[in-house]
Amino acid sequence: MLKYDSYYFQCPNCHAWLEGRNLKAEMVNQSILYSDGKVLNDNLITTRQKMIMCPSCGHVFWVENPEVPFITYEKPEAEIYSWNTWRFFGISFSDNKGKLALINHYKTFLKKSHYEPKNEIYLRRFLWWAYNDLHRNHQHVRLKYLLNGFMSFGVWHENRKMILEGEKLFLKNLKDFNENLKRLLALLEKHPEEQIDLEVPEIYRELRQFDKAKELLDQVGSRTHFTNEILRHSKWKDSRVFMVTG
Ligand SMILES: [Zn+2]
Repeated sequence: MLKYDSYYFQCPNCHAWLEGRNLKAEMVNQSILYSDGKVLNDNLITTRQKMIMCPSCGHVFWVENPEVPFITYEKPEAEIYSWNTWRFFGISFSDNKGKLALINHYKTFLKKSHYEPKNEIYLRRFLWWAYNDLHRNHQHVRLKYLLNGFMSFGVWHENRKMILEGEKLFLKNLKDFNENLKRLLALLEKHPEEQIDLEVPEIYRELRQFDKAKELLDQVGSRTHFTNEILRHSKWKDSRVFMVTG
């Protein structure tokens, strides 16, 4: 049984048809939440891609609300660009090169034009997540993950190499990472309606302003596993993104 509902929409410039997908929530086996707010359902990001680059003509456009009549659930009688051709601009993430390519896409978009705050927040949040993707599953480098039998030695070893290399690339780009986070933080503080969950204290933690992160978390009314975990990592003075549940 298909785990997706496909929908279709057209590029406003060249009218090429693109296929979009909605994951069927009731069929998800595994959901993972990371401290930066990124959620993966069966390894796929759940946050919708709002900025699209047409795979046919390269035109960049925003899809704020994918609703009828802009989209249709009827498969059109035309050539259709599949989801993979435009999703994350067609990039493959099997290695760090793909991850860097995504970072560069967002950086170029941000440099190219001026966006209204809501859209700039969207782009900077995705840029933040893209940087974090370089070392997102850092806990997997530990021998424990091999010994637990989650992965074969070959897979674990290759994966470990990629994450350690990713960590180096992350540190090399740390200045840009911090600049993006500071700008995102300023925008989110000015537009609190755009904030997601605990992202403001998490940004302070990732900027190594642990006391400020703790101060904000202490003000959160009801403690959850999520709040406690960010607090714990702030106390350790650990600024790396981590898996909250999964
Ligand atoms: Zn087009």
